Order: sequence, then structure tokens, then C-alpha cells
Amino acid sequence: MNVLVLNSGSSSQKSCLYQIEGSLPEQPPACAWEGKIEWADGKAEYSIKNAHGGSQKGQAATSDRGEGIEGLLRSLWSGGTQVVSGPSDVDVVGHRVVHGGPHYFEPAVVTAEVRSAIERASAFAPLHSRSELQGMEIVAKLLGTVKQVAVFDTGFHRTMALSASTYPGPYEWFEQGIRRYGFHGINHQYCAERAPQLLGRLDDEKLNSFKVVSCHLGNGCSLAAIRDGHSVDTTMGFTPLEGLMMGTRSGSVDPGIVTYLMRQKKLSGEQLDDMLNKKSGLLGISGISSDMREILAATKNGAEPSKQMRAKLALDIYVHRLQSGIGAMGAVLGGLDALVFTAGVGENSPEVRAAVCENLGFLGVRLDQEKNSRLPLGKDVDQDISAKDAGVRVLMIHAQEDWMIARACWNLTQS
Ligand code: ADP
Repeated sequence: MNVLVLNSGSSSQKSCLYQIEGSLPEQPPACAWEGKIEWADGKAEYSIKNAHGGSQKGQAATSDRGEGIEGLLRSLWSGGTQVVSGPSDVDVVGHRVVHGGPHYFEPAVVTAEVRSAIERASAFAPLHSRSELQGMEIVAKLLGTVKQVAVFDTGFHRTMALSASTYPGPYEWFEQGIRRYGFHGINHQYCAERAPQLLGRLDDEKLNSFKVVSCHLGNGCSLAAIRDGHSVDTTMGFTPLEGLMMGTRSGSVDPGIVTYLMRQKKLSGEQLDDMLNKKSGLLGISGISSDMREILAATKNGAEPSKQMRAKLALDIYVHRLQSGIGAMGAVLGGLDALVFTAGVGENSPEVRAAVCENLGFLGVRLDQEKNSRLPLGKDVDQDISAKDAGVRVLMIHAQEDWMIARACWNLTQS
């Protein structure tokens, strides 16, 4: 079965094709084809490759998202990265949908009703929802009536208790759907399943109380507290802005700052949105970059002193917020069996993992410094990087959102 996955960001489009023969494999297989476009300054940077060694990279002088995505998808059946003979060879298409709104949590076949639920939820996440709906339209245009499936990033957190998902504002908020939804659920769920598998504890009878804190640290960052495979709390809320410090997002700040800036500085909603989502976080504090690699490099000796000071402050805030968030999640769970690091920073930065774990000895966290710094060992190697006798297993798990979406598609085509 050929399963195509579309993962839309506000300024990027990632996509991959899985070829699943027979039954569903236990481990995520490699993509038969994968492509990515990033838009910046009126240009599109694209890179596409297939499992047979075909690849193409380049820049297209178009800021038109639709054109870019169509070009990307056509390379599935034409040119040097071809893997299928035509559009009709694609059996099902899965979309990562950031926000399912108050009614959609389980993966769903895209119907007119599901589409309008996503449209309604676009009031909560306008940038993402627009790209997702556009992706669905383009697929319908190029692939006709192929089955399309929406997999919601909010879905995994549907099990949070009302005490964790309700904001202590006026009760009307709750009635209006203003509540904590949480995001990154597709990957947090993968980590919740992968952690006991990696530790060889899938048959463990005590697994029904297995407690995991998963740290998804990419451009966006969030924690999830997971008990018995279910989300009981998370740091993102009504939007993906709440919680940890991120690449360009502030994470949680005193809402009084927002009302102060509106009153005293006459900032508009759009200006505040832009400030909190695009000009804050690592970028806002360092003034250098939203990319953790550049922040870490600027903290080293030899960097310009004023840049170094701000980069160090950015890193210190990032780590401080992570430590306090992990402590809070541990308290909600009443203890911790495994701490998982995943996504760009979590998978690739021994320095950040070591800094975060440094203060968590009270929870039983202790890293094996050598194992931690030897990583990454390989693209797909998940690892236990904790000291042998530590009370908590610290795991590095590669994010597998696309595979989770493909799996949901496969399941929905079996019924
Ligand atoms: P997204 O959230 O867009 O899916 P990723 O999960 O790929 O992104 O994470 C991207 C981030 O990962 C980059 O912005 C960068 O900060 C970080 N990153 C990638 N490689 C490294 C590395 N070797 N060291 C530190 N950070 C890294």
C-alpha cells in the first residue's frame, strides 16, 4: 500500500511516501520518497529524494505555496525522484492537522464535515489550518477521489482531566471552547509507545502505572506527562504558544504584559501575535537566531561578548523553563519512570540534555555522560542514555510523526 503523508507548517511543507507491504511493520520503515519545501523571502528551497538514490535540490522563484506543493507531489511520478507510475498508485493520503477543535480528536477520513470542523478550528490556529486545508485541496486536484485522512495533533491530549484542561478564567471560556488542547500529540503518543518498547517492558504487569515525561524540543517545544500511555498533562494549551520557551515563541508569559502593551504602547492584536510567536524565544532573547545550534555556538569562548551574554541568557532561560516544567509534570504524575528527549534539539544536543538533567537528581534522573555525548549514533537509533543504576531511564527517541500518520491511514483503510 502506498501511503502519502503531508505535514504542513506555516512556512514549510514536508511530505513522505511509505510503501507498506503486507502487515504493518512494528518499527517505522524508511520513506520510499520524501520531499521538503521551505519558503522565505519570496523563494522556495526544495529538496526531494527517493530510496533508490534519486535526489533533487534547488530554489524556485515562487512564493506561491500551492505551486510549490504541486511541484513537490508531481515528483512522486515524474523526474529523477519518481517512485510510483502515476497519481492513481497512491492509495491513501494522511495529513497532520494541528487543531481539531473541540469535537475532533481521533484520526478521521476527510469528509465535507471534517473539513468544515478544521475550518472552524482555524480561528484557533489560523496559519496552520490554512496550509492544511490547502494541502487537502491540492491532493484532491492531483489525485482525484483518493481517501484522505486527518490526524490531529491535539488528539492525544483528549484524556487530560478537566482540572488540567480548563483555564481558571470565567466559566464561559470553557463553554466557548477556550480550554487547554495541547499539541505535538502525534509524536508524544509515539514516544509513549516507544519508551516501554525500547526498555523491553511491553509485557511488564506494572506498565499500567508507567510514568513518562516526554520533551518534544523542535522549533516548537512542549512537554507531556503520560501515565499508562495516556496524556495527563502538557505544557501547550489553547494554542501552541503556551508553556516552554521555543525557537521564536515566548511560551508562557504573564498575560498582564499583553494588556499592558495594548494599553500603554497601543499594540494591536496582530502586532502582539507577531511579537509573541515570531520575535520571542531563543531569537528574541539572543538577537542571533532561533536555531539552538547557533545559540550554543555563540555561548562559546571567542564569540563577541555582548552576543555571548545574550546567547547564554537565552540558553539559561530555555533550560530553566524545561527543568521547572519537567518538575511540574513529575509532580502531576506522582513520580517518573522515564524521561524522553525527542525532536531536533532533544535528539541532537547532548549539551542541552545534560544541562536539563543536571538539576533533576532529586527525581532519580542521572545521565550516563558518555552515552549522552556519543550521540547521535545514527539517524534512526533510539537509546537509553541514563546511568545504569539511575532511578529514571532517560531516553533519546527519534520523532516519528509521519509514521504515526501513515499508521493511522493504514488502520482506517482496514475497516
Ligand atoms: P520542527 O519543530 O520544525 O519539526 P525539528 O524537530 O527538526 O523542527 O527541530 C529543529 C530544530 O532542531 C532547529 O531549529 C535546531 O534548533 C535544532 N537542532 C537541530 N540539530 C541540532 C543540533 N545538532 N544541536 C542543537 N540543536 C539542533
